[in-house]
Amino acid sequence: MTIYNFSAGPAVLPKPVLEKAQEELVNYKSSQMSVMELSHRSVLFDEIIKNAEKLLRELMDIPENYKVLFLQGGASLQFTMIPLNLAQGKKALYVNTGAWAKKAISAAKQIEDVEVEVIALSEDKNFTYIPKITKDMVDQDAAYLHITTNETIGGIRYTDIPDTGDVPLIADMSSNILANDYKVSDFGLIYAGAQKNIGPAGLTVVIIREDLIKEGQNIPPMLDYSVLAANDSMYNTPPTYAIYIAGLVFEWLKDLGGLDEILKQDQEKAQLLYDYIDSTDFYISPVAKEDRSITNVPFITGDDELDKKFNSEAKAYGFENLKGHRSVGGMRASLYNAFPKEGVEELVKFMKNFEEENKE
Ligand code: PLP
Repeated sequence: MTIYNFSAGPAVLPKPVLEKAQEELVNYKSSQMSVMELSHRSVLFDEIIKNAEKLLRELMDIPENYKVLFLQGGASLQFTMIPLNLAQGKKALYVNTGAWAKKAISAAKQIEDVEVEVIALSEDKNFTYIPKITKDMVDQDAAYLHITTNETIGGIRYTDIPDTGDVPLIADMSSNILANDYKVSDFGLIYAGAQKNIGPAGLTVVIIREDLIKEGQNIPPMLDYSVLAANDSMYNTPPTYAIYIAGLVFEWLKDLGGLDEILKQDQEKAQLLYDYIDSTDFYISPVAKEDRSITNVPFITGDDELDKKFNSEAKAYGFENLKGHRSVGGMRASLYNAFPKEGVEELVKFMKNFEEENKE
């Protein structure tokens, strides 16, 4: 039985990356040490982190006036670090598009001296669409506007990036980084937990425009972008092995043809699934068509018992983690960059059979 891992994260990694890591596991570049055992101050690790940054810059076309930081604490810690570093004494604007945006908003509200304002939300339709944001909605005195470019649980994503005027746009890109055609220069800060399209959990990537890094704000050092940036992500011991794997993933992506190529593949994979869902009344995609995520595809039958049956048979068939998030139920297929097209074809085949066997 072939296992396909539809996990929303930690997610499937490219096979060639895992094989290379295995090959180098106990003896990295004849050092007779594993990357896990290398000092983060060693020449070998210095090459690893610099190469990872260089490749990410190439892939995402990151302008020179942006710093790339390899941090810890997950995307969730950024929910706190962003208002703490950027918005003290100011107003911070948010768009509420669902579960992850909500967490970012509630963390910001806990920072004293930051006034949080939600300027748009899609709660009226249970967070199944991306609200339209126009420049006149963006208070030009605000410290930033925060968006979640892809809601991993709800399965919606921005196709157009809002124009915020001079207000820096901040994006939680955790679940569609390296799977979009956004321009880094449209953002003031981008952050992502690595465990979907980048590498192992434990690493968080932050891409921040240099003018947003402020010194002397009396912020505890591990939470202060100026300290972390001044120390090239090595104020403390960075997650060395995760950075090494991320570098291998970036290399894999580059060899594949970069973001244009992977985006084409991602769109094809998602289309296969959406086309099938749209062709039948048996399955329902609960989100607005124009805002459908290509990385996280939730679907339901509309009958909880049937969803349960689907999930149990799917698991027995070799589909791991296809069950929808515990907060919403149903099913969710996460189709990140390393997820193979054959897995989607198998899923559609399975869905067709299930429909045949269970339709009234
Ligand atoms: N933001 C989004 C969009 C996510 O999907 C996740 C995790 O799944 C997070 C934030 C939280 O990330 P972490 O677990 O790295 O803190």
